[in-house]
Amino acid sequence: MNDASQQSFLDLFSPAPGVHQAPPPTPHHGAAQPGVVFERSPRAHRYRLTLRRDGTAVATIPLRGSVREAEKFVAQHAEWLERARERQRRRPRAAEIWVVGTRVLWRGALEEIRVAVAGDKPQVCLAADVFRVRALEGDLRPTLEAHFARRAKVELPARTWELSALTGVGVTQVTVRNQRSRWGSCTAGGTISLNWRLVQTPDFVRDYIIYHELMHLREMNHSARFWARVEEVCPGWREAERWLKRNGSLVGL
Ligand SMILES: [Zn+2]
Repeated sequence: MNDASQQSFLDLFSPAPGVHQAPPPTPHHGAAQPGVVFERSPRAHRYRLTLRRDGTAVATIPLRGSVREAEKFVAQHAEWLERARERQRRRPRAAEIWVVGTRVLWRGALEEIRVAVAGDKPQVCLAADVFRVRALEGDLRPTLEAHFARRAKVELPARTWELSALTGVGVTQVTVRNQRSRWGSCTAGGTISLNWRLVQTPDFVRDYIIYHELMHLREMNHSARFWARVEEVCPGWREAERWLKRNGSLVGL
C-alpha cells in the first residue's frame, strides 16, 4: 500500500485537513466484506480488486468513486476473489526451516537436501552441487543461502557480461544483492543489480531478468517499445514471467 493513496483515503473522513494531527493510518475494512481493505487512489480510473501475497484483498476506489460503489464492485467479484484465494492456497510455499530431506529450489528444480559423504567435514548436496555445512543438525537454511549468494556473485555477473556482449548493450557494473522484493534493477549510469536468488531459478528465467535489465538501459520504462526490445532478444519472456509468478514464493519473494 503506498502512503499517498492511504493518506488521500483518510482525507476523505478528516474534517478540515491540516488543523489536527492525522490519526495513524488504518486501512478501512468494509463491514460487508471481511478481509477486504479499501484504498482510495487518485490515479486509478476505475474500481479494482486485487489479492496480495499476504492474503489481503484490496479494493481500489478511483478518484471520484465511493466506498458504497466499491463494496458493490467487490460483491460482484466475490466469486473471482474466492477462486484467487483458492489458487493462493494451492501455491507451493518455501519451507521456513531447511533440514536434511527438505526440498529446496535449486537451479530451477525442487531438490532434496541430502547428506554427502566425504571426509570428516559435514556436507550436504543438492543435485550435483556439494556444500559444506557446520553441522547436519539444526536449520541449514542460513548456511545454504550464504553458499547460494556466493555462487551468485560469481555466476550472475559473468552471465550478464556475456549477454551484454551478445546484445551489444554496454554495462558499466554488475552488483549482486539481497533484494527482498525484486529480481533486478538498473541505473541510467549502466549499473545492473541482480538478486542472488536468481541462481535458484531455471536458466531461462535468470537470462530473462538479465535481458530485461539490459533492455532498460535502452528504454528506461515499460512502454511497448521496451517490450518489443525484450521480445527481440528473449522471445520466451512470457513463459519466464509466468514461472516467476507461479514459483516466486518458493524462494521467498
Ligand atoms: Zn522492468
